[in-house]
Amino acid sequence: MDKVEHIGIAVRSLDISIPLYEKLLGTTCYKRERVELERVEAAFFRQGETKIELLQATDPQSVIANFIEKRGEGMHHVAFATLDIRGEMQRLQQEGFRLLSESPKPGADGKWVCFVHPKDTTGVLLELCQDMA
Ligand code: ZN
Repeated sequence: MDKVEHIGIAVRSLDISIPLYEKLLGTTCYKRERVELERVEAAFFRQGETKIELLQATDPQSVIANFIEKRGEGMHHVAFATLDIRGEMQRLQQEGFRLLSESPKPGADGKWVCFVHPKDTTGVLLELCQDMA
């Protein structure tokens, strides 16, 4: 695994949270994107080497809607960049970590993504991501 690529934060409303994070981080949101597969809309901020990803549910069935209902708004996942997502998935499985998908899925911001079960990672939902390009 490489650097922390981004931190995902679950929010109720991007319209409220984008200006809040722009004020907080002193930067502007550079992209807003719907990810239909995950039923979320994401907004991105560059912060030095890493990024902040705000996530709003677009559907009550979304994992983000579920998360907010249970735990409220807040930190949702930490994403690590990798140059070989399939290799990294295989390594983690061999180490006994459960993955939430069998193969990489198309995620936001031009990435292949895969999540690791938070029960196996001391309660932290961990995302692996690799640039599609
Ligand atoms: Zn993410």
